[in-house]
Amino acid sequence: MKPAARQTFLRHWREPEHLTRAMRDPEELLRLMDAEGIERAALINYPAPEVMGFGHSVNAWASRFAAGREDRLVAVGSVHPDWPGDAGTETARLFEELGIRMLKIHPPHQLFAANAYRGGAENLRRIYETAERFRRPVMIHTGTSVFPGARNVYADPMPADDVAVDFPDLTLILAHAGRPLYMETAVFLARRHPNVHLDLSGIPPKKLLDYLPRLEEISEKCLWGTDFPSPGVLSMRKNVEEFLALPLSDAARRRILFDNAAALIP
Ligand SMILES: [Zn+2]
Repeated sequence: MKPAARQTFLRHWREPEHLTRAMRDPEELLRLMDAEGIERAALINYPAPEVMGFGHSVNAWASRFAAGREDRLVAVGSVHPDWPGDAGTETARLFEELGIRMLKIHPPHQLFAANAYRGGAENLRRIYETAERFRRPVMIHTGTSVFPGARNVYADPMPADDVAVDFPDLTLILAHAGRPLYMETAVFLARRHPNVHLDLSGIPPKKLLDYLPRLEEISEKCLWGTDFPSPGVLSMRKNVEEFLALPLSDAARRRILFDNAAALIP
């Protein structure tokens, strides 16, 4: 990890040892999840060498971390379109050999637009085609990032409109629902496209209804997440408790906390 990115994490973590332990040993993470009443976690990983420092080795790492624990840990990875060979072949290898179950595309950290294939990024098209063929969801980060070097010109979710149009059988999940500047765009895309869903991670749960006043109505398209251990998210459980305090129906809560993700990521 790049020192500047690492510093951004550590500024917000009073007990980094607690984090380090959970990242070194999957059994420690499962113990933490048990203590917090969390059934499943998606391990969000993506190569972003310029901004975060991570390379493609994150895929093998996520695969090893989840191995044998797939009932509770979902390995998420991705291929950067700068991959020197055919990114479609590499994406298929992630699914078939490494057991990666979902891809994460992070435009502000990976430094390309989600629809860059329309401008010639053929490897990006191959990544989407392969995920569509394997019926694996693609999560696209939407919304701003404060990590040093992140480029927020790529934070707007609208380029995902192209992806939803061009890959109608691809399941798309817009991470963070465009927080905080583009939430109307993200909601529009989820309502327009049957294949577009919203992930609610990284939004302070207490403010969720201020940001998404029609959450009850769109609850069939929304997936829970905390973004733990990103800066500022100190406890998975605390976020769930704050969410449960919101005035939503039990049916909507269940869809958001469990049913929708269970259907998309069996
Ligand atoms: Zn994200």
